[in-house]
Amino acid sequence: MDFDLLITGGTVITADSSMQADIGIKKGKIAAILPPHFTPTASSTPTLDATSCYVMPGGIDAHEHLHMRTAVGRTADNWRSGTIAAALGGTTTLVDFVDMSPGEHMVDALHLRISEAADAVIDYGLHMTIQPDLHPVDGVPKVISAARIAEIPAARAAGCATFKMYTAYPNMQVQDGDLYRALTAIRAVDGLACIHAEHGDVIEGLREQAKWEIKHAKAGIENPQFPMLNEQFPASSAYWHNLTRPPWLERESVQRVVALAEMTGAQVLVFHLGCETAVNAIGEAKARGLSNMFGETCPQYLVFTDDYLKRPDGRLWVCSPPLRSQADQDAMWHMLRSGTLDIISSDHCPFTVAQKDSGKDDFTQMPGGVPGIEVRMGVAHHFGVRTGKITLQDWVRTCCTRPAELHRLSNKGRLAVGYDADVVVFDPNIRQSLNQADLHSTMDYSAYENIAVQGWARDVVSRGDVIVRNQQFIGQVGRGAFIKR
Ligand SMILES: [Zn+2]
Repeated sequence: MDFDLLITGGTVITADSSMQADIGIKKGKIAAILPPHFTPTASSTPTLDATSCYVMPGGIDAHEHLHMRTAVGRTADNWRSGTIAAALGGTTTLVDFVDMSPGEHMVDALHLRISEAADAVIDYGLHMTIQPDLHPVDGVPKVISAARIAEIPAARAAGCATFKMYTAYPNMQVQDGDLYRALTAIRAVDGLACIHAEHGDVIEGLREQAKWEIKHAKAGIENPQFPMLNEQFPASSAYWHNLTRPPWLERESVQRVVALAEMTGAQVLVFHLGCETAVNAIGEAKARGLSNMFGETCPQYLVFTDDYLKRPDGRLWVCSPPLRSQADQDAMWHMLRSGTLDIISSDHCPFTVAQKDSGKDDFTQMPGGVPGIEVRMGVAHHFGVRTGKITLQDWVRTCCTRPAELHRLSNKGRLAVGYDADVVVFDPNIRQSLNQADLHSTMDYSAYENIAVQGWARDVVSRGDVIVRNQQFIGQVGRGAFIKR
């Protein structure tokens, strides 16, 4: 049998095993898993020599925000820079988001977003965001209308199998009754709900209270009823972000989501968990036998702690839910190992320093988001696999195979005959700096400055095309395709 591309001499790493094998690729698909050092009948067959490297499924990053509309302008990476950075880090599939304008139909918003993504260099899917509609009386987003819920089957038919909702942020927060109705509708189309789970109402109250405290403390007025204020933290401190988003408000929200998932039977993935007590709510649900609750964590929760928020430039690490303690971070690795947490996504949300500075003097105005699209695979390998916190199989399962399963990417995430030939040759001996100058996002800072990892994607194959060779991007801009799921 002849192939279009052979990957030879490497150690094939899957979610189940590690073995010496070669991989034969034909017409963009994996055509054969071959005995090691296979000799092709046609001596001209293009070959990637993967000796002393891991050969693994391309990474699946099911959570990032490229070119997203926000209060401080679009996020810094567009679909060209964002997908090139992803590819150079060993990711071959993204799932990003569709956000609607008020009154816009989900399917129209989807098509607009697909046109924005024309430069993508790797394949991508899109989550449909379900936002509250503007209330007809006061013009404030409040409820999800019946008409909006009725669009869910059309969005599913158009290729969105996954739906994002928030239980926090005033303009995005979904009320419990609406969440229940939406989950029922998502269940009916066999979709997956992805939830940002924090107790928004109480958080908004705490933020107002904190602003009052900061203002009056300056005037020397003390409020013994609200002992949150600490001289250590001036009004400009990003640590207020943490003080007003305590762990139990994350746990409470996850518990409520678990209850609604159990009632409706909908599959529910809780996004960006970094908080042990919140993840325990999912672990408890799984231990009770609930098979429709899932959890995601992100590289920032695996590398940083809330100490970063205490720095003068702490706003660069502001994200929601916030970074937590060292004990929480340690727990995330255990939960990845045990399967309580299912997947690692980047939640790459790139705001430039100037955008972040819009919240320089007021923690409530700091845009929330940390970049990480390029570092995800390398960080999970270096801080997880190399330290023995997770195994090679855990790494592939949480970064490649489970994300594909949960997000209905049925041709991705596995090295098996018939699957898309999305393959990474990962060299565990490459030393890679995570400084901004050494990464490829259009960002002007790296959250991982002065951190280096050992192990990095050397070559990346997407649907049979070699798009990264020796850590250089050589693919065509615009070759990425929208994946209907
Ligand atoms: Zn996000």
